[in-house]
Amino acid sequence: MILIVAEHAGGKLAKSTLEMVSAARESGREGPVTVLVLGQGTADVANDAAKYADQVLVADLPQLATYNAEVWAAATAQIAQEGEASTVVIGGSRSGREYAPRVAVKLDAPYLEDVIRLSANGNALQAQRYTYLARVTETVEAEAPVIVVTVKPGSFAPAAPAAAAGEQYDVELDLPAPRVEVTGKSVEKSSRVALTEADVIVTGGRGVGSPENFATYVEGLADRIGAGVGATRAVVDAGWRPYAEQVGQTGKTVQPKAYVALGVSGAVQHLSGMGKSKYIIAINKDAEAPIFKVADYGIVGDVNQIVPALIEAAGKSQ
Ligand code: FAD
Repeated sequence: MILIVAEHAGGKLAKSTLEMVSAARESGREGPVTVLVLGQGTADVANDAAKYADQVLVADLPQLATYNAEVWAAATAQIAQEGEASTVVIGGSRSGREYAPRVAVKLDAPYLEDVIRLSANGNALQAQRYTYLARVTETVEAEAPVIVVTVKPGSFAPAAPAAAAGEQYDVELDLPAPRVEVTGKSVEKSSRVALTEADVIVTGGRGVGSPENFATYVEGLADRIGAGVGATRAVVDAGWRPYAEQVGQTGKTVQPKAYVALGVSGAVQHLSGMGKSKYIIAINKDAEAPIFKVADYGIVGDVNQIVPALIEAAGKSQ
């Protein structure tokens, strides 16, 4: 089997899990695409996962209520061993990249980190990934009975539901007592949709002019239409916005249904993070800006004049 460890939060399956299902199907590796759901109170997550996978394994236990690298690694390795997994696919989130190497060590398996493409080359698994600050895309191969992979979020299109729902099975686990405990959590309160989950993203570039304009126009438009907020590296480097919002080779890779680029030039490093968006809408005062080469809809003009009108129009249509 190809074992995918589900990512989920707040009782909902994360989009990254559907991206991992696509990665698994594209990998050409042997066995049914199997999603492992670790957590507590995960019935909805498991039911949702079953729409996309060939089968779903559920470990719904109090010890799995909170993520812990040692516990997640032990659980994943046990299931991979028992099910003779050919491949273990883990999300390229911070936690995924924390426990995936532990799984690889436990299984004595090669580990391919942060892959953006997967394919079969004979019996080997071939992967592409960025290296040298994303200046280079390298192709790597591994051949082994089991291979552990983490998938860069946003690099694969989310899987569509399968024709028939996968079967669900409860699994038993022998879990270690964690040696690291989470003793506190402070959750940033944001009503805004996360960048990697958003169907619509509004991104601001240097052309927006200032951090204040970014708040008024980029965040203003995003909040009016219920979109996520993205930023170019120029804006992040200038300290206008946090790195978490950066889209591009050295930031997040996203594939929303609509990507609205405001004052973004469309440098190749930015395009590689959002070029697979379904519809790209750009506003830029330079008609020759490279963003217009990939845009489905473009407006040549000043964001500071056009965006207030868009915000007003979006308000009227609600
Ligand atoms: P600019 O290139 O300065 O473009 C601003 C645009 O705004 C221009 O097209 C201009 O015509 C337009 N404009 C100006 N005023 C207005 C106005 N009033 N109304 C409308 N339009 C206006 N970049 C990323 O974004 N993400 C990455 O992950 C990333 N990784 C990188 C990795 C490496 C190794 C390197 C070398 C570079 C990377 N970059 C990345 C940087 C990238 O090359 C560009 O420098 C950056 O994307 C430019 O950001 P920008 O479009 O905001 O700014």
